[in-house]
Amino acid sequence: MVDECCGLFTPEQREEEFLFRLAVNNINEDATILSRTKLVPQVKSIDYYDSFHANKRVCDLLEKGVVALFGPLSYSPSSAHTQSICDALEIPHIETRWDYKLHRDDLSLNLYPQPSVLSSAYVDLVKSWGWERFAIVYENNEGIIRLQNFFKDAQNFNWKIQLYQFEPGKPYRDTFWEVNKAKVTNVILDVKRDNLLLVLRHAQQVGMMTDSHSYLITSLDLHTMDLEDFKFGRTKITSLRIVDESSPEMMNIMGNWTKLTKRLNMPDVKKPNGILTESALIYDGIRLLSTALQDLDQSQSVDGIQPISCHSGSPWLYGSSLMNYMRPIAFRGITGLVDFDQLGFRTSFSLDVMTITIDGFIKIAEWKQTTNRNETNLTPMDNWNRHYSQVSMQNISLVVTTIISEPYTMLKESAIERSGNEQFEGFAVDLIEELSKLMRFKYRFKLVSDGAYGIKDDKGEWNGMIGELIRNESDIAIVDLTITSKREEAVDFTQPFMNTGISILFKKPTTKVTTLFSFLSPFQNIVWIYVLAAYISVSTILFVIGRLTPYEWDDPHPCRQEDNVLENNFSLINSFSFTIGTMMQQGSAVAPKAMSTRTIAAIWYFFTLIMISSYTANLAAFLTVEKVVYPIENAEGLAQQNQIEYGCLRSGSTKAFFSESNIPVYKRMWKFMQSRPRVFTASNREGIARVRKSNGNYAYLMESASIEYTIERDCNLTQIGGLLDNKGYGIATRKDSPYRNPLSHAILKLHENGVLLQLKERWWKQKKGGGQCTEETKKSSSVNNLSIDHVGGVFVVLLGGLSFSFLVAIFEFIWKARHDSNESVFEDMMKDLKFAFACQSKTKNVVKKQDMAYQGSEYDSPPNYGPDFASVY
Ligand code: GLU
Repeated sequence: MVDECCGLFTPEQREEEFLFRLAVNNINEDATILSRTKLVPQVKSIDYYDSFHANKRVCDLLEKGVVALFGPLSYSPSSAHTQSICDALEIPHIETRWDYKLHRDDLSLNLYPQPSVLSSAYVDLVKSWGWERFAIVYENNEGIIRLQNFFKDAQNFNWKIQLYQFEPGKPYRDTFWEVNKAKVTNVILDVKRDNLLLVLRHAQQVGMMTDSHSYLITSLDLHTMDLEDFKFGRTKITSLRIVDESSPEMMNIMGNWTKLTKRLNMPDVKKPNGILTESALIYDGIRLLSTALQDLDQSQSVDGIQPISCHSGSPWLYGSSLMNYMRPIAFRGITGLVDFDQLGFRTSFSLDVMTITIDGFIKIAEWKQTTNRNETNLTPMDNWNRHYSQVSMQNISLVVTTIISEPYTMLKESAIERSGNEQFEGFAVDLIEELSKLMRFKYRFKLVSDGAYGIKDDKGEWNGMIGELIRNESDIAIVDLTITSKREEAVDFTQPFMNTGISILFKKPTTKVTTLFSFLSPFQNIVWIYVLAAYISVSTILFVIGRLTPYEWDDPHPCRQEDNVLENNFSLINSFSFTIGTMMQQGSAVAPKAMSTRTIAAIWYFFTLIMISSYTANLAAFLTVEKVVYPIENAEGLAQQNQIEYGCLRSGSTKAFFSESNIPVYKRMWKFMQSRPRVFTASNREGIARVRKSNGNYAYLMESASIEYTIERDCNLTQIGGLLDNKGYGIATRKDSPYRNPLSHAILKLHENGVLLQLKERWWKQKKGGGQCTEETKKSSSVNNLSIDHVGGVFVVLLGGLSFSFLVAIFEFIWKARHDSNESVFEDMMKDLKFAFACQSKTKNVVKKQDMAYQGSEYDSPPNYGPDFASVY
């Protein structure tokens, strides 16, 4: 059986025609596919813009009978006509061209990726490069459709996109002049493959092909071009490629090109640098068609091809079935995985991200469309980083602008005169050295000519290091250069290498503070309250137990036994005076006699011993350590007064912070500073010297990292309050500079491996007198008044002792009651307790058993007093 498939090409599309014929030939030679059928290629040349002619050609072909139609290869009036004929006569139309339509016709299948999917691949690339400002330079309006996703995402990513269209009839370089004038260095270029080389040459002519420039070319055919002229310029030229040059079939075609062209009688088709995307898609299209034909053949008997007349209007019977067989087919062709979704769009395909390097056109990443149409991913290869970081800076010589600022960049102190980089030392100097080792670039330091960091004047011009970068006088700026949003508009910053914030540098007051009640300072107030509570409760307990225990009751006049009266020393007053006397280490006239009261006394002695020792020790510390009181405690305090002047650096971010702030306190501070221009300084060094000499009437607003360095060395200075803001120091590069990303990458590496921490330790704590003031700080911070946490244990012991004394008192009571009383111990105890708590008397009658001797004197005869108790009063 013979099936004819037809391709419509222009006479110039020789490579496409060759691949079409080659694909048919390969299918015919392959015994595993369509073994019973022979495909015959029918090629007709057409004129894209002559639709009448194209119409006629297509009808001629259909009259011979065809199973499918390929082409035309670009969007034109002829392609629209062809499509409508195929639709009407149900002939499968296989397309391989860029088509913006959101729907596919029933009888059409397009192997070219959907424009919106391609667009998201370009967006992913731009995102991965971190472009913020770029130009889209395009040839015709299709370009805008191709890049539609950029406009959708512009707001989300804060992209500043400038659009330029090449004017028909005018040289491309005219447009590039404008792009260059706008100082845009990142360009998305959308031009036809045929014009691409000329466009790139024109860009080169106007100086838009330097190492600072980056191009993203939307054409999928950049790999087919001779890019020898652009290999060495270090311009990043990147594009996407769908053709899989590593597939065995592709290698076979490229390897045997001459042989194959001769075999197909097309020796004039010269071997290209790479196969065009459309040629490769046609090749895969034939494979797709033949697989579908085979499936159709197996499922129903197709009686060969039928001639179809354009005039009769009766369609081909198997057209729709063939189409339906084509859609679910998936196979790996020379354009990667060929697979379609339900809408007839290619899905799950991948694109190679290609870039031009000295070694040629190489693959640096892969972009994949996942089965979920909204999910995509870009997988960089190992050489991605090399290409986008180290390699791009290798052997490059950078001019590094800096400013003298301790400890970032300092002039070496030495007897010999030094020149070049040798004359500098410091944190920033070491940092750039580390970066240069990592990325293998060279650098030359240059001190900023006007001695300023960079601030925008009223005319909108930047001075200092920022100005130098903008005027191309240097490549990067490194020192304690703060990343600010205003500066970010003019230059680019790397990732921060250090964090900081504005704070206040002030002189420590030298006068001591004396207060009337400083003797109270050793203990916290709560401890004093606890001591007072202990005193009251111990005294009361002593009084109660003193009355309870029988052994504290004595005969006041042992010679007048007949009185039969017992007296107790621990009256309420005596109890209180006993405890206070012993607490003050003065002793007392009354002394405990019973075991229980002695226990209380002992535990109280212990308690007072510990408390008095702690108090004395801490008081000594308090009296020797100076307590300084600062006239201001924070920025608010500074803003509320006018006695102490305050200022900051004249051309730095601190000044910009105050001038732009909307916070009332900082606004007020800005007004104050503005009204006295003398408060501004030319350098931090000048500011520090001013604070040092000031006698406390000048405060300097400075960044915390520098304050930390200063107060580490000058113990008379200190930081007041916390940070007014939070920011970081970064390396500044020109806007859209290619050095920004590699430098950021390297800084992150230095963060991760601890090098930045080591450098900070070296320049802050060790070198140039670091660590001088740390001892001092420790001393002053170690004197704290004692809290309950420190002395709580003594109170616990006191409580334990008191409880024990209670037990002893009960024991004493029982013991005595058993000897002296006729009543039960319990009744006796209750009576005595009642008596004790009545607190009415310090004397009581003698209690005795009927048959016992008088209590307290073993040898007296027992007088009979009748009832048990008789008050003497
Ligand atoms: N780091 C500041 C800057 O980049 C300079 C010091 C300051 O303003 O306090 O401008």
